[in-house]
Amino acid sequence: MPLEIITIPCLADNYAFLLHEPDSGVTALVDAPEAAPIKAELDRRGWGLDFVLLTHHHWDHIDALDELRQIYKPSVVGAEADAHRLPPLDVAVKEGSVFSLSGEDVQVIEVSGHTVGHIAFYLPESKAVFTADSLMALGCGRLFEGSAAQMWQSLSKLAALPTDTMVYSGHEYTQSNAAFALTIEPDNSALQMRVANIKKARSAGVATVPSPLSLELATNPFLRANLDELKQAIGMEGIDSEQVFAEIRKRKDRF
Ligand code: ZN
Ligand code: FE
Repeated sequence: MPLEIITIPCLADNYAFLLHEPDSGVTALVDAPEAAPIKAELDRRGWGLDFVLLTHHHWDHIDALDELRQIYKPSVVGAEADAHRLPPLDVAVKEGSVFSLSGEDVQVIEVSGHTVGHIAFYLPESKAVFTADSLMALGCGRLFEGSAAQMWQSLSKLAALPTDTMVYSGHEYTQSNAAFALTIEPDNSALQMRVANIKKARSAGVATVPSPLSLELATNPFLRANLDELKQAIGMEGIDSEQVFAEIRKRKDRF
């Protein structure tokens, strides 16, 4: 059975996600920003919690883990490389690790950049990738620990997934990302259309996460740093894509 995926708004602008297999009842949580809304969603649906998948060590992705662990006793999955600064892990994973969520494969992709040791979880059958603060809707995470080269490599891996994959990222930052994206590619008509839709969604209180990878490829300036049309738009024709990415990231930091 395909997994049911539920988005849970947490804290000011974080998202956590529940993955639920209806036949077995197996349920997993991606990231643990805040206990109360996650517990409320599980209780409302009568679900337990079998797994928690952690993307990276920042507090706004792990803060609720202790409380959820005491109540539901889930198995906690996280990056081996970050085991020293994550809550205690039951399953330590790395690039290329594959584990099963009630029969469905979950592939681990290392996506360092925002932090070193950040991982994404890719579920090919459900056509879903959980990227937290690596690839985000119309953006990418700030480079707190990793280099532009690392983030560009991470984004390039995600960009190579099937284009009908849905991207579940960690924050509702899309509206401010949209304002920035327009400064990079003001003439990108797919971007203009997306920005209008984002504005409508946000004023109706609707989440802009997840988003299809195809839409990110057409509109997200950070994913488009390898394209001649983008390089041209910012006067960097013929420059190496990684350097173009670094320049866009720098501009965003100052935006
Ligand atoms: Zn973070
Ligand atoms: Fe975050």
